[in-house]
Amino acid sequence: MVIEVRNLKTYFFSEIGIIKAVDGVDFSLPPKKILALVGESGCGKSVTALSLVRLIPIPPGKIIDGEAWFCGVNLLALPEEQLRDFRGNKIGVVFQDPMSALNPVFKIGDQISEGIIRHGKIGKTQAKECVIDLLSQVGISSPQRVYESYPHQLSGGMRQRVLIAMAVSCQPRMLIADEPTTALDVTVQAHILRLLKDMQEKNNLAILFITHDFRVVAEIADDVAVMYAGKVIEYASVNELFNSPLHPYTQALMNSIPGISASETKNLKAIPGSVPNLLDLPSGCAFHSRCSRALSLCRSEDPPFFRSGSRSVKCWLYLKENMSAG
Ligand code: SF4
Repeated sequence: MVIEVRNLKTYFFSEIGIIKAVDGVDFSLPPKKILALVGESGCGKSVTALSLVRLIPIPPGKIIDGEAWFCGVNLLALPEEQLRDFRGNKIGVVFQDPMSALNPVFKIGDQISEGIIRHGKIGKTQAKECVIDLLSQVGISSPQRVYESYPHQLSGGMRQRVLIAMAVSCQPRMLIADEPTTALDVTVQAHILRLLKDMQEKNNLAILFITHDFRVVAEIADDVAVMYAGKVIEYASVNELFNSPLHPYTQALMNSIPGISASETKNLKAIPGSVPNLLDLPSGCAFHSRCSRALSLCRSEDPPFFRSGSRSVKCWLYLKENMSAG
């Protein structure tokens, strides 16, 4: 495995109470695979990913428990100085909004070179050649011009390509892509997804891909972890998940995807209710007030994971099925 995350808990300590943004998350990511963390806004997927490289604001945030084993090293136990050697070097990050991720007062070339020089111990001239090569690898047709440009002189799609070039510049083993296509229009989105897939195959990357969009999941992921209220509630390969989603929340999310025909868009099935307040989570299964199949047990007891082969689901409906609890 490139990374194995065990019982990750990240809470935010606010004046009005404790927000359990990530509450006991487990997953693993094998080499050369793409794992999508998917769920509605506020379910904890971005906080999960950013906790791995400790990029959450501390305070009010705090990682209160868990382990994240990356190539034999527990990232959550590393001193900050040693973690810097992993962040941006062995683990690249692509953010949703490239405009806020890039520094507006520095040229693109200087921003990408900085990491290569710091982690690669090479000189400025060599770094420049390397950056121009990277810019052309991510599909920028005039890399020399972009090297000398400032972020505001580029389109949204170009800036996202620049961020991808920056994220892979130190040849990381893993990439965290946090909603990298959400702010882009559909055509540019397709190009960026293709580019990430190409980079993954070419550089043997493992990618943790955060998204709320199941169409993007279908396009890019090998495996999927569905999150709800700070927990993973279903884990499966992308084919298994799309062919037979097990958890009522996953099923409801799939049913709410708009189709193409007029009748499909007319009868959109929204999930009733809203995501629970993380400051005051309900007892039992956090989805019970929105679940059409809830049992009386669901209101009082939080379900464990039921596993069968590579699949697992956190729902009491599978108690009597041929799945083992764990
Ligand atoms: Fe619905 Fe109960 Fe399953 Fe939760 S545990 S998803 S409430 S059936």
